[in-house]
Amino acid sequence: MYISRKIALTLLFGWALIVTESSFAAGETVQTQWNQVRIHVVFNNLPYRAGLQTGWGFACLIEGPDKTVLFDTGGNGDILISNMQQLGLDANAVEAVVLSHIHGDHTGGLDGFMAHNPDVTVYVPESFPASFQREVRRLGAAVETVDEPRQLLAGIHTTGEMNHGIAEQALIVDTQNGLVVITGCAHPNVADMTERAQSYLGRNVYLLMGGFHLDSSTDTEVKAIIDQLKALGVRKVSPSHCTGERAINLFREAWKSDFVDGGLGAVISVP
Ligand SMILES: [Zn+2]
Ligand SMILES: [Zn+2]
Repeated sequence: MYISRKIALTLLFGWALIVTESSFAAGETVQTQWNQVRIHVVFNNLPYRAGLQTGWGFACLIEGPDKTVLFDTGGNGDILISNMQQLGLDANAVEAVVLSHIHGDHTGGLDGFMAHNPDVTVYVPESFPASFQREVRRLGAAVETVDEPRQLLAGIHTTGEMNHGIAEQALIVDTQNGLVVITGCAHPNVADMTERAQSYLGRNVYLLMGGFHLDSSTDTEVKAIIDQLKALGVRKVSPSHCTGERAINLFREAWKSDFVDGGLGAVISVP
């Protein structure tokens, strides 16, 4: 069946498309992996680089060799766009926006972003209200809903919508060094989301970053999460946003030189 599909595609579109097609299903031998990934934190309540405007929420821009993806939009489009401009990042380079979950500190900047670039596909968890999806389409974007773990663009995957707590998806970049897993708030539990990413793609996690939602957890609870993530073999961590200062310090102690600062304006390169 795969062969006949290949032949059909050859007839229709020629060789170039085959390469894309062959990288589609995860678990096949040919799977697209990104090299030279750069992740820019463009919205965060935690500061890192001077001259940018913090705000409650999270967004980061993932720059690959030939694709740029925005993960979450922070709580305010004006702040998002202004930070991107300060950092020399072009909104028009973005071809896909992945929204982790319905909270306003992750979706609130979408309108403002789309005022600059409506020519995107917006990937939302399936449970997002129909009214939200309609509004995004009205503003000119395509909307795709996410249910199960799957590939969104070549090399970019989702954990799928995870439903315990608040429905949320994490984004996964498949890189030559391992997986980069990015969580918005990790409401369904950061260790469970990491485990899902790892078992879905069958590869280790090189970097886990984003909001880990541990600000109201006790030290004992945070340490249990740290033990789980260590047991999963997570190589580097970059917790921010709703992780909480105390939990962030525990992660810093546990990962030492493999702790990566992920506040606003941080640029994280994955070799
Ligand atoms: Zn949230
Ligand atoms: Zn949040």
